Amino acid sequence: MFYEDLSPYAYWDEGDQFSDVTDGMRFVSFRPLYARLNVGWLEAGRPWSSGPAPQDFTDRLLAILGAQEVNAMLGLHACDLCATPLPDSHPWYVPRPGHLRASAGTGEIRVPGPRGTAFAAPLLIGHYVADHGYLPPRPFIDAVFAFDPYGPWPARFPGIRFPWIPDDAVLRHVDEE
Ligand SMILES: [Zn+2]
Repeated sequence: MFYEDLSPYAYWDEGDQFSDVTDGMRFVSFRPLYARLNVGWLEAGRPWSSGPAPQDFTDRLLAILGAQEVNAMLGLHACDLCATPLPDSHPWYVPRPGHLRASAGTGEIRVPGPRGTAFAAPLLIGHYVADHGYLPPRPFIDAVFAFDPYGPWPARFPGIRFPWIPDDAVLRHVDEE
């Protein structure tokens, strides 16, 4: 899956779905009022920027990756930048040293950006930054530093760590689908 950095998000057109990360069984799904911008959808053979990330950036990004679960679907998204794939015996959900994953579920994150935008990145972005030296565009780096997924903004659904949930969004249970 390749999308150019900062291009409009188009991967999943059914709106955004945030899972309650405290139990994984509840979610809210809505048509976002923010524009979504792609970041970190890398693919071998396509250009991407590399360079040293600012101090603490990787840790801040990994904290967001651990706090959100957006548009999670079954299946895996594997890194094809790795020279040699990890052995199949290494389950994707077991963190590697440095808690990075060369393959991950198909989930994503949302990071509030400037003026009604949110950045849309795949879970694998943490691996790309930490293991491959991917340097995301500056507006995304700034947004990661500015976003604390644990508040202080008011959270209507405590297990869903994103401030821009529309007022009419309803918490639902997976069994209701
Ligand atoms: Zn890789």
